[in-house]
Amino acid sequence: MTSANTLQARTPDEAYEFAAPFRAPQGSPIRELFKYVGRPGMISFAGGYPSKDLFDRDGLGRAIDAAYRSDPIACLQYGDTAGAPALRRSLARLMGARGVECDSDDIVVTTGSQQGFDLLVRTLIAPGDTALVEEPAYPAAIQALRLAGANIVTVRTDSDGIDVDALAATLDAWSEPGRPKLLYTVPTFANPTGATLPRARREALVRLAVRHRIVLVEDDPYGELRFAGTPVPPILALADACPGGRDWVVYFGSLSKIVAPGLRIGWALAPAPIARRMIVAKQTSDLCTSPLSQEAARHYLDSGSLESHLRTIAGAYRSRCGALLKALTHFAPADIEFCAPQGGMFVWARLTGGRDAGDVLKRAIERNVMFVPGTAFFVRDADASSLRLSFAAPSEAEAFEGARRLASALSGN
Ligand code: PMP
Repeated sequence: MTSANTLQARTPDEAYEFAAPFRAPQGSPIRELFKYVGRPGMISFAGGYPSKDLFDRDGLGRAIDAAYRSDPIACLQYGDTAGAPALRRSLARLMGARGVECDSDDIVVTTGSQQGFDLLVRTLIAPGDTALVEEPAYPAAIQALRLAGANIVTVRTDSDGIDVDALAATLDAWSEPGRPKLLYTVPTFANPTGATLPRARREALVRLAVRHRIVLVEDDPYGELRFAGTPVPPILALADACPGGRDWVVYFGSLSKIVAPGLRIGWALAPAPIARRMIVAKQTSDLCTSPLSQEAARHYLDSGSLESHLRTIAGAYRSRCGALLKALTHFAPADIEFCAPQGGMFVWARLTGGRDAGDVLKRAIERNVMFVPGTAFFVRDADASSLRLSFAAPSEAEAFEGARRLASALSGN
């Protein structure tokens, strides 16, 4: 070790006078679990990773080749902060297929949808501002708000997502200073609950957003991974039917779960005043999303491969989810309760008898199986008996074996 390193190691954290949200930072509890994922024989229901054996490797390889060969300079040079015009046109067509009419100029390409939400938070939230978040919620959304110093107020959910009546009552009775500025939700195949918000609740949410002037954030990375039930339009598609609705909805899309997260391509559709400010924030964040990635994504989308790829992955996820739920019912019928999702990547479960999922996780890891304890998805008062199981990565045979090991961890045998 060099003397410089030794000195660095001895400098206490306080010496750096970090900004308040970073003084005692908590890393992502899910990322902490990753050290076990690579262990030989581990069956992981933990990650929100798409299945590695379902990537369209050939199709993406061709798209990357075609992007570079057809315009190497566009791939190598800096690009527009708002995104490459050709990709924005392709994404506008994709949004049209999802029932959202938009102009390609309305789309802001982001480096994953995670960046999109972070940019939005930067433009709206100053320390102390109130943000509403469904609970349980996607931890990185909670974290983005925490790091911005937001006052996070949780919104109750049930097996159909946000309890809109409870939310309406809360908003109507709001007496605290500082009304909420935004509401974050994953309305379709939520992370972590797998729940999908019914159409009537979506429409009611838009009306509430307009009435209370709250930016309604629709985070939609999983919406096209449906393998059962009837499609529900995105909130943004329903917003036009409510006067002023479109002015209060910000939509985030992503290619991460439907194509590949390594591309780091997401996009935002936001009212113009918000989009303009997000672009200003992006200028100091990364100048532009990787043009090489954007060109590759554009070639992939324009190749027409996405539709059949979506059928392939949704079909595989249907089988994997079915195998997991069947095996859980078979091996641990009295120990675990869950709701069957109609798509996405997650099953939200609860251990019976008030058992603590964190304790069970320790025994599960000894048996080479993993999941994420539900506490990771709560802002304050966590339900310690809840857990999230991702069925995307394990094969059907692994799902079966993983459920057997989980049952053994639950029974202590
Ligand atoms: N939102 C949700 C609900 C997610 O689950 C994820 C990824 N786990 C993201 C956003 C971020 O996705 P991206 O790779 O597009 O940044």
